[in-house]
Amino acid sequence: MKKLTQEELAIYEWQLDVPDHGIEGQERLKNSTVLVSRCGGLGSVVAYELAAAGVGTLILAHGGNVKHSDLNRQLLMTQDWLGKPRVESAERRLKELNPRLNIISVPENINENNAAKLVGMADVILDAAPLFEERYLMNREAIQQGKPLVDCAMYELEAQIMTIFPGETACLSCLYPDKPAAWKRKFPVFGAVSVRLLVSVPWR
Ligand SMILES: [Zn+2]
Repeated sequence: MKKLTQEELAIYEWQLDVPDHGIEGQERLKNSTVLVSRCGGLGSVVAYELAAAGVGTLILAHGGNVKHSDLNRQLLMTQDWLGKPRVESAERRLKELNPRLNIISVPENINENNAAKLVGMADVILDAAPLFEERYLMNREAIQQGKPLVDCAMYELEAQIMTIFPGETACLSCLYPDKPAAWKRKFPVFGAVSVRLLVSVPWR
Protein backbone atom coordinates (compact mmCIF):
# COMPACT_ATOMS: atom_id res chain seq x y z
CA MET A 1 0.00 0.00 0.00
CA LYS A 2 1.40 3.39 -1.04
CA LYS A 3 1.96 5.81 1.82
CA LEU A 4 1.15 9.53 1.78
CA THR A 5 3.94 11.92 0.82
CA GLN A 6 4.73 15.09 2.78
CA GLU A 7 3.03 17.09 0.03
CA GLU A 8 -0.13 14.98 0.26
CA LEU A 9 -0.21 15.34 4.03
CA ALA A 10 -0.24 19.10 3.48
CA ILE A 11 -2.87 19.01 0.73
CA TYR A 12 -5.33 16.82 2.63
CA GLU A 13 -4.73 18.46 6.02
CA TRP A 14 -8.30 19.75 6.32
CA GLN A 15 -9.92 16.38 5.71
CA LEU A 16 -7.50 14.24 7.72
CA ASP A 17 -9.23 15.47 10.89
CA VAL A 18 -12.64 14.25 9.79
CA PRO A 19 -13.69 11.56 12.30
CA ASP A 20 -13.10 7.98 11.09
CA HIS A 21 -11.00 9.19 8.15
CA GLY A 22 -7.47 10.20 9.20
CA ILE A 23 -4.22 9.10 7.57
CA GLU A 24 -5.43 5.52 7.24
CA GLY A 25 -8.56 6.58 5.36
CA GLN A 26 -6.56 8.93 3.16
CA GLU A 27 -4.15 6.14 2.28
CA ARG A 28 -7.09 3.94 1.35
CA LEU A 29 -8.27 6.68 -1.02
CA LYS A 30 -4.79 7.00 -2.51
CA ASN A 31 -4.71 3.28 -3.19
CA SER A 32 -8.25 3.16 -4.61
CA THR A 33 -9.51 3.03 -8.16
CA VAL A 34 -12.89 4.45 -9.10
CA LEU A 35 -14.54 3.81 -12.44
CA VAL A 36 -16.61 6.78 -13.63
CA SER A 37 -19.08 5.87 -16.36
CA ARG A 38 -19.55 9.11 -18.32
CA CYS A 39 -18.15 12.47 -17.24
CA GLY A 40 -21.27 14.39 -18.16
CA GLY A 41 -23.38 16.64 -15.97
CA LEU A 42 -23.04 14.39 -12.95
CA GLY A 43 -19.87 12.45 -13.71
CA SER A 44 -17.84 15.64 -14.30
CA VAL A 45 -18.70 17.06 -10.92
CA VAL A 46 -18.22 13.81 -9.02
CA ALA A 47 -14.90 13.08 -10.78
CA TYR A 48 -13.69 16.56 -9.88
CA GLU A 49 -14.48 16.02 -6.20
CA LEU A 50 -12.90 12.56 -6.23
CA ALA A 51 -9.75 14.07 -7.75
CA ALA A 52 -9.75 16.80 -5.10
CA ALA A 53 -10.27 14.28 -2.31
CA GLY A 54 -7.17 12.31 -3.31
CA VAL A 55 -8.50 9.14 -4.92
CA GLY A 56 -5.42 7.53 -6.51
CA THR A 57 -6.78 6.32 -9.84
CA LEU A 58 -9.80 7.29 -11.90
CA ILE A 59 -10.95 5.31 -14.90
CA LEU A 60 -12.95 7.66 -17.10
CA ALA A 61 -15.24 6.09 -19.69
CA HIS A 62 -16.91 8.60 -21.97
CA GLY A 63 -17.29 8.59 -25.73
CA GLY A 64 -17.73 11.42 -28.21
CA ASN A 65 -16.45 14.94 -28.66
CA VAL A 66 -17.30 18.10 -26.74
CA LYS A 67 -20.27 19.96 -28.23
CA HIS A 68 -22.01 23.21 -27.39
CA SER A 69 -24.93 21.55 -25.63
CA ASP A 70 -22.50 19.91 -23.12
CA LEU A 71 -21.34 23.22 -21.72
CA ASN A 72 -24.34 24.04 -19.50
CA ARG A 73 -23.55 21.17 -17.14
CA GLN A 74 -20.51 19.04 -18.08
CA LEU A 75 -18.04 21.06 -16.03
CA LEU A 76 -14.94 19.18 -17.18
CA MET A 77 -15.69 20.24 -20.78
CA THR A 78 -14.54 23.66 -21.94
CA GLN A 79 -15.26 25.98 -24.87
CA ASP A 80 -11.71 25.62 -26.24
CA TRP A 81 -12.15 21.82 -26.44
CA LEU A 82 -15.24 21.92 -28.72
CA GLY A 83 -15.02 19.18 -31.34
CA LYS A 84 -12.28 17.33 -29.46
CA PRO A 85 -12.64 14.17 -27.34
CA ARG A 86 -14.51 14.58 -24.07
CA VAL A 87 -12.21 12.27 -22.10
CA GLU A 88 -9.22 14.41 -23.11
CA SER A 89 -10.94 17.53 -21.85
CA ALA A 90 -11.84 15.76 -18.61
CA GLU A 91 -8.34 14.39 -18.10
CA ARG A 92 -6.71 17.78 -18.71
CA ARG A 93 -8.98 19.55 -16.21
CA LEU A 94 -8.59 16.89 -13.52
CA LYS A 95 -4.81 16.95 -13.88
CA GLU A 96 -4.79 20.73 -13.44
CA LEU A 97 -6.41 20.21 -10.08
CA ASN A 98 -4.49 17.09 -9.05
CA PRO A 99 -1.36 16.26 -11.08
CA ARG A 100 -0.70 13.24 -8.82
CA LEU A 101 -3.89 11.59 -10.02
CA ASN A 102 -3.50 8.52 -12.19
CA ILE A 103 -6.10 8.60 -14.97
CA ILE A 104 -7.04 5.80 -17.32
CA SER A 105 -9.01 7.36 -20.17
CA VAL A 106 -11.39 5.21 -22.18
CA PRO A 107 -12.81 7.15 -25.16
CA GLU A 108 -16.00 5.10 -25.27
CA ASN A 109 -19.14 4.60 -23.21
CA ILE A 110 -19.81 1.44 -21.25
CA ASN A 111 -20.88 -1.39 -23.53
CA GLU A 112 -21.04 -5.19 -23.66
CA ASN A 113 -17.43 -5.37 -24.85
CA ASN A 114 -15.74 -3.25 -22.19
CA ALA A 115 -17.97 -3.46 -19.08
CA ALA A 116 -16.52 -6.62 -17.49
CA LYS A 117 -12.91 -5.52 -17.95
CA LEU A 118 -13.43 -1.97 -16.64
CA VAL A 119 -15.48 -3.09 -13.63
CA GLY A 120 -12.77 -5.66 -12.89
CA MET A 121 -10.16 -2.87 -12.68
CA ALA A 122 -12.12 -0.77 -10.15
CA ASP A 123 -12.79 -0.86 -6.40
CA VAL A 124 -15.92 1.28 -6.68
CA ILE A 125 -18.09 2.20 -9.64
CA LEU A 126 -19.80 5.52 -10.17
CA ASP A 127 -22.45 5.23 -12.85
CA ALA A 128 -23.51 8.61 -14.20
CA ALA A 129 -24.62 7.39 -17.62
CA PRO A 130 -27.87 8.81 -18.98
CA LEU A 131 -28.99 5.68 -20.83
CA PHE A 132 -30.84 2.94 -18.97
CA GLU A 133 -29.20 0.36 -21.22
CA GLU A 134 -25.79 1.38 -19.88
CA ARG A 135 -27.01 1.58 -16.29
CA TYR A 136 -28.57 -1.90 -16.43
CA LEU A 137 -25.38 -3.29 -17.92
CA MET A 138 -23.26 -1.70 -15.19
CA ASN A 139 -25.68 -2.91 -12.52
CA ARG A 140 -25.46 -6.47 -13.85
CA GLU A 141 -21.67 -6.41 -14.06
CA ALA A 142 -21.16 -4.84 -10.61
CA ILE A 143 -23.38 -7.50 -9.03
CA GLN A 144 -21.60 -10.29 -10.87
CA GLN A 145 -18.21 -9.06 -9.70
CA GLY A 146 -19.38 -8.02 -6.20
CA LYS A 147 -18.29 -4.40 -6.59
CA PRO A 148 -20.06 -1.49 -4.87
CA LEU A 149 -21.93 0.67 -7.35
CA VAL A 150 -23.17 4.22 -6.93
CA ASP A 151 -25.84 4.85 -9.53
CA CYS A 152 -26.99 8.42 -10.04
CA ALA A 153 -29.09 10.47 -12.38
CA MET A 154 -30.72 13.84 -12.71
CA TYR A 155 -33.84 15.11 -14.42
CA GLU A 156 -35.24 18.66 -14.49
CA LEU A 157 -34.56 19.89 -10.92
CA GLU A 158 -34.24 16.48 -9.29
CA ALA A 159 -31.23 14.33 -8.51
CA GLN A 160 -31.37 10.68 -7.61
CA ILE A 161 -28.68 8.50 -6.12
CA MET A 162 -28.58 4.87 -5.04
CA THR A 163 -25.66 2.98 -3.52
CA ILE A 164 -25.73 -0.71 -4.30
CA PHE A 165 -23.77 -3.23 -2.26
CA PRO A 166 -24.15 -6.54 -4.13
CA GLY A 167 -25.81 -9.18 -1.98
CA GLU A 168 -26.68 -6.65 0.73
CA THR A 169 -28.95 -4.04 -0.83
CA ALA A 170 -31.50 -3.67 -3.59
CA CYS A 171 -30.10 -2.98 -7.05
CA LEU A 172 -31.09 -0.82 -10.01
CA SER A 173 -33.26 -3.58 -11.49
CA CYS A 174 -35.17 -3.83 -8.19
CA LEU A 175 -35.92 -0.10 -8.39
CA TYR A 176 -36.63 -0.10 -12.13
CA PRO A 177 -37.56 -3.57 -13.40
CA ASP A 178 -38.21 -1.87 -16.75
CA LYS A 179 -36.98 1.33 -18.30
CA PRO A 180 -39.46 4.09 -17.25
CA ALA A 181 -41.72 4.92 -20.17
CA ALA A 182 -41.52 8.68 -19.58
CA TRP A 183 -37.71 8.76 -19.69
CA LYS A 184 -36.15 10.52 -22.65
CA ARG A 185 -32.57 10.75 -23.88
CA LYS A 186 -32.46 14.53 -24.15
CA PHE A 187 -33.79 15.27 -20.71
CA PRO A 188 -34.44 18.74 -19.30
CA VAL A 189 -31.89 19.74 -16.64
CA PHE A 190 -29.84 22.47 -15.02
CA GLY A 191 -26.20 21.58 -14.25
CA ALA A 192 -26.49 22.82 -10.66
CA VAL A 193 -28.81 19.90 -9.88
CA SER A 194 -25.61 17.81 -9.53
CA VAL A 195 -24.78 19.72 -6.34
CA ARG A 196 -27.95 18.37 -4.73
CA LEU A 197 -26.64 14.91 -5.37
CA LEU A 198 -23.18 15.48 -3.91
CA VAL A 199 -24.56 16.38 -0.51
CA SER A 200 -26.69 13.25 -0.39
CA VAL A 201 -24.02 10.60 -1.07
CA PRO A 202 -24.07 8.01 1.70
CA TRP A 203 -20.60 7.55 3.17
CA ARG A 204 -19.20 4.30 4.37
ZN1 LIG B 1 -32.07 -6.14 -7.71
